[in-house]
Amino acid sequence: MPELPEVETICAWLEPRLLQRRVERVHIARHDVCTVWEKATSGRVTPRQLLKGGRVVELCRHGKQMALVCDDGRCVCIQLGMTGQMMMGDADTGASVKCRHVHVRWLMNDGTELAFRDPRRFGGITCLVRRSDLDARWAELGPDALTIRVDALKRGAQGSKRMVKALLLNQRVLAGVGNIYCDEALFLAGIHPETRCCELSAEKVTLLARTLRRVLRGAVRAGGSTLKDYQKPDGTPGIFQRSHLVYGRGGEPCTQCSHELVRAVVCQRGTVYCPLCQPV
Ligand SMILES: [Zn+2]
Repeated sequence: MPELPEVETICAWLEPRLLQRRVERVHIARHDVCTVWEKATSGRVTPRQLLKGGRVVELCRHGKQMALVCDDGRCVCIQLGMTGQMMMGDADTGASVKCRHVHVRWLMNDGTELAFRDPRRFGGITCLVRRSDLDARWAELGPDALTIRVDALKRGAQGSKRMVKALLLNQRVLAGVGNIYCDEALFLAGIHPETRCCELSAEKVTLLARTLRRVLRGAVRAGGSTLKDYQKPDGTPGIFQRSHLVYGRGGEPCTQCSHELVRAVVCQRGTVYCPLCQPV
């Protein structure tokens, strides 16, 4: 949490409010949430590295990561980790100032403010000098799960003895899926989470790719899933959690066959599935 649909929702919300705005000031409350791309020695990150003086020309996302790009190529790549939030509002009302755990604030030339908040600090901000550095960073991830193609998923699954759940959670195979959308997609595709990848038929892999895209698109339309920390930058929740068929529903009846949904640990993650609809 947050996964691809939540980050996509945040980006879509921020884009019209940040594009062409200039970053006037940057407040850094915690330097240790910021790193500089490919710099092993971590000196203190400067406001300039965090885009001070730059005009935002692009907001983009790959998997669960998002980035702001400035006119001179400087970028910040933001990972929300478990509890990360992006907040945006009027700088005068200072909503983010009253909040605890706000680590970085960007004050824009139109009087608004963007803030990065992350109580548990599993997330973080990476500063990059060039747009091409961002491409290089994201090239280390698999293709974006929102548009995952069958052949990419097939390549990842081919000859692999690991479980399909591990495949879907591996960000180098496809980027953006976490525990929620993994369990939802496997249920809808009728695939047991412990199925070995090499045992998946070509038809099942095709169905899984299609199902992943469908689940993720549906979640984006609903503004993501709000369970605990995730919210849109204006503080409003997503509503896709109401549509969860298995995630968080262990012990409840299956919506398709009424059998009790099983909760188990698969790939060290809490996993919910239907033993009848998702046979081994
Ligand atoms: Zn069932």
